[in-house]
Amino acid sequence: MTETRPLLSVSGLNAWYGAAHILHDIGLSVARGEVVALMGRNGAGKSTTLKAIMGLLARTRGDVRFMGRPLHGLQPYQIARLGLGYVPEDRRVFTDLTVAENLSAGRQPPRAWPDGSPGLNWSLDDVLALFPALAGMLDRPAGAMSGGEQQMLTVARTLMGNPFLLLLDEPSEGIAPVVVEQMADMILALKARGASILLSEQNIHFGRLVSDRAYVLEKGEIRYEGSMSAL
Ligand code: ATP
Ligand code: MG
Repeated sequence: MTETRPLLSVSGLNAWYGAAHILHDIGLSVARGEVVALMGRNGAGKSTTLKAIMGLLARTRGDVRFMGRPLHGLQPYQIARLGLGYVPEDRRVFTDLTVAENLSAGRQPPRAWPDGSPGLNWSLDDVLALFPALAGMLDRPAGAMSGGEQQMLTVARTLMGNPFLLLLDEPSEGIAPVVVEQMADMILALKARGASILLSEQNIHFGRLVSDRAYVLEKGEIRYEGSMSAL
């Protein structure tokens, strides 16, 4: 039987920080193999949406399903264990460990889809092929890398966990143009391999380059849903 339901589906999602109502009835979906961009300006609610999906907020309401399974009530680590790989805005590397040790820290066993077919599982060599810039610095302490290189490392480490779905919070933010290009190439290579990705992004050029489809968030509401080229 072919799997037709979305990999991730979110409906009627609301979120609050204290008394401030930030997300209003967010609905979105990501199909298997799709790269979807969540676009919006500063403060639109992109990071809050990804955090809510990962179960990281104290107060939310609504329905989030992964492979049809409701995530409500699960702890963040349980959600991650289902195969959601999340790279937050505040990238954290283990600064005293080498690049290679940082990568091993992300390693999880291979995964299989519910029908038994193998997931997209990544060996260290696979990951290094996607991130050629990291391959030459495996023995260097991560703390000695540039901010852009650390950003690549957090994405690479998350891939080592063999996620079914990758959630990237503004992968192009705050890094040099040459690293932005490497990041875009890496996302396109993942897409070519069949990876499923939901990324948040302010940069329309970057979003257009890497994604199939977009949602535009404004003040915590989805204002547009459709092709990236129409934006
Ligand atoms: P950016 O592009 O700047 O990362 P964003 O689209 O990711 O923006 P969010 O970080 O989701 O936006 O913020 C949405 C709204 O929630 C903003 O008004 C922000 O000020 C508010 N907000 C975010 N984090 C908190 C928090 N921890 N406590 C209170 N308000 C917050
Ligand atoms: Mg953000």
